[in-house]
Amino acid sequence: MAKKKAAKKVAKKAVKARKAAPKKSAPKKAVKKVARKAAKPAAPAKGKLVYSFGDGKAEGRADMKNLLGGKGANLAEMSNIGLPVPPGLTITTEVCTAYYKNGKQYPRELKGQVDAALTRVEKLVGAKFGDARMPLLVSVRSGARASMPGMMDTVLNLGLNDITVEALAKQSGNERFAWDSYRRFIQMYSNVVLDVGHEHFEELLEMHKEEHGLNLDTELKADDWKQIVAAYKKKVQQELGKPFPQDVRDQLWGAIGAVFSSWMNQRAITYRSLNNIPASWGTAVNVQAMVFGNMGETSCTGVAFTRDPSTGEKIYYGEYLINAQGEDVVAGIRTPQQLTKESRLKVGNDMPSMEESMPATFRQLVGVFKTLEKHYRDMQDIEFTVQQGKLWMLQTRSGKRTAKAAIKIAVDMVKEKLVSQGEAVMRVDPASLDQLLHPTPDPKAERKVIAKGLAASPGAASGKAVFTADEAEQLAGKGEAVILCRVETSPEDIHGMHAAKGILTARGGTTSHAAVVARGMGRPCVSGAGAIRIDHAAGKMTIGDLIVNKGDVITIDGSTGEVILGVMPMIEPQLSGDFGQLMVWADKLRKLKVRTNAETPADAETAVRFGCEGIGLCRTEHMFFDADRITAVREMILSHSVEGRKKALAKILPMQREDFVQLFKIMAGRPVTIRLLDPPLHEFLPKTDGDFDAVARGTGLSVAALKERKKALEETNPMLGHRGCRLGISFPEIYEMQARAIFEAAVQVSKAGGKPVEPEVMIPLVATKAEIDILKGKVDGVAAAVFKEQGKKVKYLVGTMIELPRAALRAADIAETAEFFSFGTNDLTQTTLGISRDDSALFMEDYLRAGIFERDPFVSIDQAGVGELVKLAAERGRSTRKDIKLGICGEHGGDPSSVRFCHNAGLDYVSCSPYRVPIARLAAAQAAISEEQASEA
Ligand code: PEP
Ligand code: MG
Repeated sequence: MAKKKAAKKVAKKAVKARKAAPKKSAPKKAVKKVARKAAKPAAPAKGKLVYSFGDGKAEGRADMKNLLGGKGANLAEMSNIGLPVPPGLTITTEVCTAYYKNGKQYPRELKGQVDAALTRVEKLVGAKFGDARMPLLVSVRSGARASMPGMMDTVLNLGLNDITVEALAKQSGNERFAWDSYRRFIQMYSNVVLDVGHEHFEELLEMHKEEHGLNLDTELKADDWKQIVAAYKKKVQQELGKPFPQDVRDQLWGAIGAVFSSWMNQRAITYRSLNNIPASWGTAVNVQAMVFGNMGETSCTGVAFTRDPSTGEKIYYGEYLINAQGEDVVAGIRTPQQLTKESRLKVGNDMPSMEESMPATFRQLVGVFKTLEKHYRDMQDIEFTVQQGKLWMLQTRSGKRTAKAAIKIAVDMVKEKLVSQGEAVMRVDPASLDQLLHPTPDPKAERKVIAKGLAASPGAASGKAVFTADEAEQLAGKGEAVILCRVETSPEDIHGMHAAKGILTARGGTTSHAAVVARGMGRPCVSGAGAIRIDHAAGKMTIGDLIVNKGDVITIDGSTGEVILGVMPMIEPQLSGDFGQLMVWADKLRKLKVRTNAETPADAETAVRFGCEGIGLCRTEHMFFDADRITAVREMILSHSVEGRKKALAKILPMQREDFVQLFKIMAGRPVTIRLLDPPLHEFLPKTDGDFDAVARGTGLSVAALKERKKALEETNPMLGHRGCRLGISFPEIYEMQARAIFEAAVQVSKAGGKPVEPEVMIPLVATKAEIDILKGKVDGVAAAVFKEQGKKVKYLVGTMIELPRAALRAADIAETAEFFSFGTNDLTQTTLGISRDDSALFMEDYLRAGIFERDPFVSIDQAGVGELVKLAAERGRSTRKDIKLGICGEHGGDPSSVRFCHNAGLDYVSCSPYRVPIARLAAAQAAISEEQASEA
C-alpha cells in the first residue's frame, strides 16, 4: 500500500515536471480507448479454492488469470461465451502458494471443494469417477498466470484402472481404444507422478513389437495393448515395490500433487528466471472431463493459431492428427497434418488437411476462431479435440508470436477496427524489435543450401554447429556464436536454446517445442529438416554424403527454412510497411525524444534510418583511434610542453573538423551533442616498440624519455583518474582544439547552405561548478574567435554530463553554467554503487541469483538508487534553469524499462545505440500511454 502511494506520488511529480516544460501531449482519444478496455481484475471470493466451469457457464472469468492461471481463466471464459468446453474445475494458484508455504500441505477445505466440483462434472457428463459402468475420466493439467509451454506436468486419462478400462471398452464399443488409453495413462502417470522413467515403458513396447513382428503403433490390436498394460504394471511393481494405484481418488490427488511439485522442477525454474516470472505466482491445477481424439477416424486432436504466429498473416495456421491424443502433436511423435488445404499445398504434404477430411467440423472450428478473436481482440493459440465428430475446445490463450507477426497483427487489427492505435502500440514488446533490427542473409549472395526445413522462427544466424544444449551453453559462454542442432528439442534443452544464436531440428512441425520456444525467445529456428541425421554421440550430422562436424560453421535462415553451409553476408533491415506504420503511431503518442549515440558516419546514417532525432552522445575519443591519428594523439599526450601538445593537436584538428562536418551533414539540422575528450588516458598510451618509435619520430623526443613520461602518466585506477574534464583542466589546449573543430565545422556546413547546425558541446565527468565554469569559458572563447574569423555565427549550447553523485547533488549550481544535462548513467551507476563497470561481470551473476539486484544495474537502471539521483538532479537543475534540456546517454537509454523511468522522471530525451532507436521510440510511446492510463484510473 505504502509502495503504491509512493509510486503515485512519483507519477504525480513527474506529470508536474513535464507540465513545467511545454511539450506535445499524447492524443487523448487513442489512449483513452486503451484505458477503457482494460477491465479491472475480479477479486477472489474469500475461502474459495476451487472454481467450476462447463455447460455454458463458469465461476471464473478471463480477467482472473492471477487466481486461476491462464488456462483456467480462459476455460472459464470460453464456457461463459457458450463455446463447447468439457466441464471441469480449477484449483487456484493461491492453493499452490499455500502448499509451498505450509510444508507441502493442502488447505483443509480443499478436499471438500474438489469433491463438490467433481460431483458437478459427473452430473454434467453423466458418468461417475471410478464407476464400473459409466466411468468419468479426467485430465489434470497445470496452468500458471503466464504461459510456460511444456515446463510443467500433465496427466491424461486419469480414472482408468483394471475395472473402469473394461467399462470404457464396453461404453465406447472399442476395446482397442480403451486398452490403448489405459497403457498411455499408466505410462504418463508413472512418469509424472511416480517418477518411473518413460524409457522403461518405451522399451517394453519396443520389445512387444519386435516379438510380434509389428512396426507401427497403429498395427497393435486390443490384445497387444492388454499384454502391454500387464507388462507396464509389472514394471511399476518392480520399480516401486508396490502396485500401480487402482483407487481413482488416490490417482487424482497424486496427479494434483505432481502438478504443484512441477512448479519447482528445474526446467520450470530455469524458464521462470529467463522470463522474469516470480516463483510466488504459483500454478493452478485444472481437472477436466476427458474428451478423446483417439476414438477412431472421426476423431482428432489439434493446435491452431488464428493468424500465422511467424508472419502475422491472417490465415488459419495449425496442425492436427487424426485418431490421436493431444500430447502426440506437441511431442512430435507423429508428423501432424495441416489444418487448411492452402497450407497443405504450400508445404507439399500428401495427407489431407482437416478442411478436406472433416469439412463440417472444420467450418465449426473456423466459427470458433472468429468468435474467439472478436471476443479477445487478439490472435489466439488454441487446442481442440474432436471426439467422434464433436468439437471440444481445450484451451485458448493469446498466441506467442515473433516480433514481425506482433507488428503485423497489431497494425491489421487497427485496420479491422478491433483495437485502437494506442492498443496496437502497447501490444508489441519493444525489446522484441531487436529480432527485426538485425541483418538477414543477402539474397544476392551465393548460398550453399545443404538442407531445407520449416521456416519456424524468422531471422537468420550463423554459428558453430553443436549437438547438445550443454555444448551450446559452454561454447556460447566463451563468446562463440553457436547453432544448436537437435533431432527435436524438449524442455530440458531450454538453457542451450537460450545460449544459441539459432536452433535447427531434424524433426517436428511449426508448433513443435523448438518452434514455439524459439519464437518466444526471438531466436531464428528451422524445424523438421528431415534430411538431416544427427548423431550427438559422434558430434556430427550428415546430410546425404555431406558431414557437418561439431564446430563447423552453418547458417540457418528461419524465414525460408534453409540450412546453409558456412557464414552468409547479411543485409540491413528496413523499417517500412507495418513496422513503419506502428512507429508513426508510436511517435504520435510519445513525449520523450529519441537520439542516438554515434560518432561514425555509418552509425549516424543507420540511426537516421531508424528514426533518431539527433545525436545525444558523440564520443570524440572513439574518433582518435584510427591508425592515421593515434600517433598524433600519443604525441599530444606524451609531450612535455604546451608547444609540443599544440603541434600534435594541429595535426589532429583538420581530421576532427572533417568528422564533424560529416556528422552535421548527415544529421541535417538535428541537434548533435559532442562530448569533449573523456578517455582513461592509459587506453591511448603506446604499447609496442613500434608505437614508441613512431611517437619519437613525430615529437623528436627519445624513446627513453617517452617511456619515462608514460610511466609518470600511469594510474592505479584510470577509471577514477585523469579523465573527463580533468584532462581539459590539465591540458586546456586539447579541449580548445576540439571546440575549434566543432565550431569551424558548424560554420562550414552552415555556409554551404546545409540545414542550420546547433552543436551542443558537452563536458564530461564534471563534479563541481568550478570545473564547468572554467571549461565553458574556454569553449565560449574559442567560439567567439572562430565566429569572428569566419564572419559567421552559429547557435550552440554548452552543457555537462551528470556522471558523479556530487554533480547530481550540486545540480542546482552546476545548472547556473550548464545549459543542458546529459545523464551518463554508465559512470553514474559505477560511481553510485561503487562497482567498477569493467569488473562487474565477475560477480554480477551471483548478485542476480541471490536476488540482490533484479536486473544488472548496468543494463537496466537502478531506479531506487541511481534513479533517485537522476530525479533529484533533474529537479534541482530545473529549479535553477527552468528550460534546461535533460537527456540520458548511458546504455540504459535503449532499455525499455529504463526508458519508462526516464519518461516518468520528466527527461526530454533518451539517447541509445542506433539499433536500439526503434526500441526506445516504442518504449517511450508505451510509457506515455501507461502514464495517461494511470492518471485516468
Ligand atoms: C556514461 O558514463 O554513461 C557515458 C555515456 O559515458 P561513457 O560510457 O563514455 O563513459
Ligand atoms: Mg561516462
